[in-house]
Amino acid sequence: MLKSKTFVKKTRSGGVMKIVREHYLRDDIWCGSEVCAECKQESAVLQRDACIESNLCTYPHYLIPDTNVVLHQIDVLEDPVIRNVIILQTVLQEVRHRSAPVYKRLKDIIHEKEKHFYTFTNEHHRDTFIEREPGESANDRNDRAIRVATKWYSQHLKTSESDAEGLKVVLLTNDQGNTQKAEESSLLVYADIIVHRLLAVAIAADSTYPDLMDKHKQSALANNLNYRHKMSQYAQRASVAFHTQLFFKSRGILNEAGYVLFVRKNAIIVLIPKFGLEGTVFFDTKDKAAPNLVFDEEGPTLKVEQHNFCIFDKVKVTISLDASNIQHQKIRMALIDPVIPGVSVPAPDVEPQAKKPKLDR
Ligand SMILES: [Zn+2]
Repeated sequence: MLKSKTFVKKTRSGGVMKIVREHYLRDDIWCGSEVCAECKQESAVLQRDACIESNLCTYPHYLIPDTNVVLHQIDVLEDPVIRNVIILQTVLQEVRHRSAPVYKRLKDIIHEKEKHFYTFTNEHHRDTFIEREPGESANDRNDRAIRVATKWYSQHLKTSESDAEGLKVVLLTNDQGNTQKAEESSLLVYADIIVHRLLAVAIAADSTYPDLMDKHKQSALANNLNYRHKMSQYAQRASVAFHTQLFFKSRGILNEAGYVLFVRKNAIIVLIPKFGLEGTVFFDTKDKAAPNLVFDEEGPTLKVEQHNFCIFDKVKVTISLDASNIQHQKIRMALIDPVIPGVSVPAPDVEPQAKKPKLDR
């Protein structure tokens, strides 16, 4: 089967060249497994008894590492304990582009007979080749190709022979997106740092407890990890907001110069360079009658009564802390300059606080 892609390319001299790229898809690429009776391979690389001497596995399995695992865990893959690994062509190509030394080491492992590393040319296999979808990045396409090939192996080995019962294909990845998508297509994957932990167990550098080997408990563990990661990000953002509020709370109302960053239908967003602080000045507040607002998307400009606001206009604003709702304290900004009757506020009398005297030690 032949797939061809035609596209035109501009040459250096300014001419146009038609390029036809041919991609052969074949049906004589074998899976390389001893358990398989379907493929017509002469000698299989992947062993029937693919259990490694550790408590990692109670069942025989083949490992399929993704590109990042190869790039970052090549030491582990080199360990004599790790055998029966499927190296996808997609992974091999990505590794070659990203690190010449790791590529060399991987090729060396593949050539070692007792390692039982099998290169599967998934990019030329009729059932595992995939086209890049519109809008899909090359990276995402390759991740998908790895998942497709892994899925193909799982199904292929399941149907091959009944005594292959229990032989599993394990995708090794520490990429969150790939993990999630792989879980959606119900593959067996190890999430995140658990990968490192399990690899350490595999080479007997570490020991572990049975729970870590349980598929469901592991999935729960991964969910918990992701949950905590998300919560820590929220905490980080909340902490920045909290300290910004503390800072302005102790300073009272300030009168500061700033610049209009964005213009919206009912507000301007102001940057105060002195504090690196961004805030919004709303013109349609609940407590006041709304002024006459005309928003022009083309500018963009916002006309408030007679004054026209553009991006980068210099303005003066008050910065204060609205603590009326103790649960939701907010930094508030109000316009001082330009003066727009009924809209702007008078400049605060209080001068910005002098520096605190240094404490005697
Ligand atoms: Zn086969």
